[in-house]
Amino acid sequence: MSNTPTITLSDGNSIPQVGLGVWRTPDNIAAPTVRTALAAGYRHIDTAAIYENEEGVGEGIRTSGVDRKDIYLTTKLWNDNQGFDSTLKAFDESLKRLGTDYVDLYLIHWPAPKRHLYVDTWKAFVRLKTEGRARSIGVSNFYPEHIEMIVAETGEAPVINQIELHPDFQQKAARAFQEKQRIVTESWSPLGQGMLLDNPVIGRIARKHGRTPAQTIIRWHIDNGLVVIPKSVTPSRIAENFKVFDFKLDAEDLAAIDTLDSQDHRIGPDPMTADF
Ligand code: NAD
Repeated sequence: MSNTPTITLSDGNSIPQVGLGVWRTPDNIAAPTVRTALAAGYRHIDTAAIYENEEGVGEGIRTSGVDRKDIYLTTKLWNDNQGFDSTLKAFDESLKRLGTDYVDLYLIHWPAPKRHLYVDTWKAFVRLKTEGRARSIGVSNFYPEHIEMIVAETGEAPVINQIELHPDFQQKAARAFQEKQRIVTESWSPLGQGMLLDNPVIGRIARKHGRTPAQTIIRWHIDNGLVVIPKSVTPSRIAENFKVFDFKLDAEDLAAIDTLDSQDHRIGPDPMTADF
């Protein structure tokens, strides 16, 4: 049995708060990695069409011995496939590669504002939600203005925005906006792609709790009400990253981590100007 806490989304569905991210994990590694994570208790996998590992993820799920209905599966629409008809086609292709007839969460991967297609794309997402083949629909890397635009055009709000977020890039303005709109924030690159693991503030808090830096950072995301999808392909780290439900950071820890926040610590591209 999995002991992941869940968060209830505005559409009534629930998402396990900790999942496994599988970016940069080819098919042949993704399958055993997903099996390892499911055996360790994970019930949430985060992939994307552009990761080119949906087949491996699907295989990992099917051969894990865990029922599909007990697994929360997210995939994402790649930018090249934005547009109404092309979204519907790309979604069918993702399902086929995953070997499943629904996903729990489908995300628009990037707003790609220069393409001017994210509204039409969202209209297709609303259709997929109505059909029940995407149980929940959301976005990734959207700024408030992109979210406001799709809500104005369709009346349907995303349940989640998955954005870059780690202790030294805390996205407080985006989180405040999303909280007001009842949109859950999901943190990508939650460990700062591993670069934050040597941070002395994190190290001190980790020692205080008898935990590793990775566990301390993952716990920080949980204690902030965020959904968090750390990536690892190493079985011991996959297990370590999931042993985070039996301790809590205190006010002093949270205040210390607050001081790490900086607008300058974005790792990935700025979604407003990203040219892909
Ligand atoms: P991450 O912050 O999860 O860091 C992963 C790296 O940290 C690993 O490669 C490993 O080097 C290290 N690591 C992990 N656990 C460790 C441990 N216990 N001890 C020591 N080192 C450890 O980075 P990420 O992969 O960029 O982000 C996580 C997931 O977020 C991705 O796999 C993907 O699913 C998602 N993501 C989404 C977007 C988006 O645009 N929506 C962009 C990037 C990532």
